[in-house]
Amino acid sequence: MDKNGSSTIRFAGGEQIPVELHKVRIVQKLHLKPVEERLEAIEKGGYNTFLLNTQDIFLDMLTDSGTNAMSDNQVSSMLHADDAYSGSQSFYRMEAALKEVFGKKYILPAHQGRAAENIISKIFVKPGDVIPTNYHFTTTMAHIEINGGKVLEIYGEEAVKIKSNHPFKGNIDVDKLRAVIDEYGAEKIGFIRFEASTNLIGGQPFSLANMREVRKIADEHGLMIVLDASLIGENAWFIKQREEEYENVHIKDILLEMCGLSELVYFSSRKVTSTRGGGICTDSEDIYMKLRDLVPLYEGFLTYGGMSVREIEAMAVGLYETTDETVISQSPAFIKYAVEQLDKAGIPVVTPAGALGCHLDAMGFLPHVRQEEYPAGALAAALFIVSGCRGMERGTVSSVRDEDGNDILADMELLRLAFPRRVFTLSQTLFLLDRVKWLYANRELVGGLKFVEEPPVLRFFMGRLAPVSDWPQKLAAKFREDFGDSL
Ligand SMILES: *Cc1c(COP(=O)(O)O)cnc(C)c1O
Repeated sequence: MDKNGSSTIRFAGGEQIPVELHKVRIVQKLHLKPVEERLEAIEKGGYNTFLLNTQDIFLDMLTDSGTNAMSDNQVSSMLHADDAYSGSQSFYRMEAALKEVFGKKYILPAHQGRAAENIISKIFVKPGDVIPTNYHFTTTMAHIEINGGKVLEIYGEEAVKIKSNHPFKGNIDVDKLRAVIDEYGAEKIGFIRFEASTNLIGGQPFSLANMREVRKIADEHGLMIVLDASLIGENAWFIKQREEEYENVHIKDILLEMCGLSELVYFSSRKVTSTRGGGICTDSEDIYMKLRDLVPLYEGFLTYGGMSVREIEAMAVGLYETTDETVISQSPAFIKYAVEQLDKAGIPVVTPAGALGCHLDAMGFLPHVRQEEYPAGALAAALFIVSGCRGMERGTVSSVRDEDGNDILADMELLRLAFPRRVFTLSQTLFLLDRVKWLYANRELVGGLKFVEEPPVLRFFMGRLAPVSDWPQKLAAKFREDFGDSL
């Protein structure tokens, strides 16, 4: 289904592998510690990979947020940053880049994606409002709810199936959208939200055909479309790969079409480029004026928005690079390779391969761990113990409790192994795959987790858990037995 990406090469024998279309010029040393020390580190981190220290980590696959490798052009651009509280030339260079890449007239800076969400939700979410979306993101949902709104996920049937060959699992189900409009009335809908490369269901894209259909319905009812463009480059890449009429369209033009169908586009620069930061873009003076005054209040003056001018410079260059197909295809090529290798080995993994990472299905991997004992959290801890690779739990630990204090069980229990752009090599990827396969062969040794410290908001960040038995010790002992004195 996927056509060959430009970051993939074919060997003489026909085998296809991902290839690094860059050379390494600055490096950072990594540590691969003995399994006993990894066990100690995860114990100290409350079985929450967010609480690990990178000195104990070999491959940091927690996230693609702020961890993509910068290009030489990005780093050098930081040298000509213009320090000024207002009127900085750095800002105008970024503004020009945003106008060109996203095609919008008005630009507001924010220090990261969730800061943009704060501002947008404060203005466009009123108590009692509903926000239909292809799928929620953690920080987005928190901001919508804090302002009294409710998120309605209106994805299609295939979206939360682990195994699928649906090319666009991130599509909005238009029948569900019509039903939401009938049920709540257009005046109760703050906006319709599209998230590019839907993060929590495995980096899955939506199609432009779907977006056009939703646009039509939005126009019939005077509704606004808000595009979370944090992973827009990859979504555009998948459209080019998977949507026939875009086969020969440059992703630069696909990006413009996606943004053109939205009244408001916001993004996390931590994902779109490799720098901290974020922003809001619109063509509507009315929307711009509504949002503008909140920027100095929460972020900083309109020409820096909580970012350093150096970051702003690197962001401008990074935005142009987002339209470079060899840059954007890099991470999807590695993810596709990893997903196909694991799938071939019979390991439960989300298909088709999407953006940002390879997603293991923890319920399929650990069917003996009940969802109330957080299989994805347990799998994240177990993989760290046996490999030093840090992934992120995207399951019930990342969910919330209902009014009665019971966990709202997540639709999917995923362990996300992020492939930040241009960071890991193929041999590192092969190491990861080997350890995942070993863990799968020894999966009956992995048990569940329970919370011992649970913050009320976004508990997955700072929460501490403990194993329900001494399974981590047994797992480490088996690893030592099988691997001898190898790490
Ligand atoms: C990361 C992310 C955000 C939040 O951005 P931050 O810069 O981390 O605050 C919002 N939406 C999506 C889809 C994201 O992936």
